[in-house]
Amino acid sequence: MSGIKDRLESEHARLEAEVAELDLNERESLSEASGENVYRDHMGDQGTATFERELDMTLEENVRDSLGAVHAALGRIEAGTYGLCERCSAQIPVERLEAVPTATMCIACKEADETR
Ligand SMILES: [Zn+2]
Repeated sequence: MSGIKDRLESEHARLEAEVAELDLNERESLSEASGENVYRDHMGDQGTATFERELDMTLEENVRDSLGAVHAALGRIEAGTYGLCERCSAQIPVERLEAVPTATMCIACKEADETR
């Protein structure tokens, strides 16, 4: 299981760096005179600018979600509950944890959850 912990820790470091970078980009775009009015005067650019901003938001959401999941997984390792399904408390198969180190549910519960 220590291999998985190492992977989670390096993933955690990578994601934190990515969030820091996104935060930096966000501050830069906010300082561009609130963007909106400037772009509205250039109709040709507006679509692209809006699209890029939405892409940023989605990317940032994904990164934050992943970071949260990795953080929670590391917390479960500390607490000694890592690898146990949070719904039925069954041991999650190691192969599944190796494929998805942030998995919180066994396959049966995950499938039940998704088809709800
Ligand atoms: Zn389960």
